[in-house]
Amino acid sequence: MSSKNRQIALGAVALVVLVAAVIVTVARTSGGGGPSDTFTVDGICLACKQPVTAKYHCSERLPAVCPLCGERAVYGTYYCFDCGRRFVPHLVPASDGGPPVMPMIPTCSACGGHNVVGYLPEDPDQRGAEWAPLPEWPPGGRR
Ligand SMILES: [Zn+2]
Ligand SMILES: [Zn+2]
Repeated sequence: MSSKNRQIALGAVALVVLVAAVIVTVARTSGGGGPSDTFTVDGICLACKQPVTAKYHCSERLPAVCPLCGERAVYGTYYCFDCGRRFVPHLVPASDGGPPVMPMIPTCSACGGHNVVGYLPEDPDQRGAEWAPLPEWPPGGRR
């Protein structure tokens, strides 16, 4: 097998691991005591730039409403193993004209690496991670 094929195979494995990690995070955060139809996100509010824990209903999607400033601007965060920073991935425009949404496949906004996982506050390395520059808020074009 050529080394190129091996790289493709490795990429596929990384993607599966990433998807599994996201599913595990969602399953775990939805379990803790609250109503089961509510998700909790350990994210950051792009409007007031504060790391916050926000709840949102399972029929909704991110961004969630910020408990501090009331803006719908709380996004989930990821950790990049390549540069060791915590980041919000480049957001993609929403099809319904609402706030931009999280991309399906996040890449590091600082180094462009694919070696990322959903942020886990239990991990001391991730908790102490430096922040990569955050996406603009309000999103481009809105004044
Ligand atoms: Zn806020
Ligand atoms: Zn990175």
